[in-house]
Amino acid sequence: MNEVIAKRALGAALAYAAGDAFGATTEFMTPAEIKDRYGVRRKMIGEGWLRLRPGQVTDDTQMCIYLARSILRSKGFCPVGVADGFVEWMRSKPVDIGSTVRAGIRRYITEKKVLAEPSEWAGGNGSAMRILPLVVYCLKSWHLFPAMALGQGRITHHNRDADLIMLALGECLKVAIETGDKMAVLDVASAFIRRYPAYSFSRYKGECSGYIVDTFKCVMHYFFDETSLENIIIGTASQGGDADTTSAIAGMLAGAIYGVDAIPRQWQRTLDSDVQRTLTGHMYELLQLPCCWVEAQWEAQCNAEWFALEQAEGTLYDGL
Ligand code: MN
Ligand code: MN
Repeated sequence: MNEVIAKRALGAALAYAAGDAFGATTEFMTPAEIKDRYGVRRKMIGEGWLRLRPGQVTDDTQMCIYLARSILRSKGFCPVGVADGFVEWMRSKPVDIGSTVRAGIRRYITEKKVLAEPSEWAGGNGSAMRILPLVVYCLKSWHLFPAMALGQGRITHHNRDADLIMLALGECLKVAIETGDKMAVLDVASAFIRRYPAYSFSRYKGECSGYIVDTFKCVMHYFFDETSLENIIIGTASQGGDADTTSAIAGMLAGAIYGVDAIPRQWQRTLDSDVQRTLTGHMYELLQLPCCWVEAQWEAQCNAEWFALEQAEGTLYDGL
């Protein structure tokens, strides 16, 4: 295993969890409310509408852990294994769960249908926010990534914006981990918005709802505008809205670029130690496990879904 790559992957995972725990404090608040209450907050303190312990993570990090675990258990990728993992997670009484995520897992339980039907209402963050473990797993066989990404994402979110941004964020994270070069990530993001100007973040106006397009703009704005991991996450968290999710995703990209050591000491000490240990173990195992499908039938189905998306969008991934 390449140690440099492993360190960057670990930086991404731990900074993702740190962003989740840090941002959750101001989830669903407005920037004015946040300023009033906290000024510029630099400490990880928990609280928020979920009344969290300092360092406690939410559904974002938990779904990443369950997705990682399902791949490791199945010794490969299969949407059924992932859906089973999500069921197990939902039954563990998580501290929060998104409405589209809940509806998707319920549909799987009651109808045994693994993938969701397309829906214009499924443009939430859920599928993109848990892409991190799959990116790490697919680094060694990147050509498998798009179909697997759709295979995990569409369990809950079958929506054009959610699909496209999940794939773009995946590509951004891959390049961040492989190169450690922020400008290389900017190249990927710029190519993406040249193709999809509606996702442009160059004139960011503070969008930060749970809509994936807003999340993408918020994350990219702070990731490229700020120059330290700490300020990137403080920026997204101070924007409020879906602050835990935007901070987690921004933290993920920043962690790959700036590394674990850039995570402020107080955050490192405070962040749930079980989560840190679990993520560390899972990242190393995902890097080592050969990337493959476990069931030919699902490989064929997800490849067909990916082929259809590429047909509709033009060769999406080439030079994206
Ligand atoms: Mn959350
Ligand atoms: Mn959230």
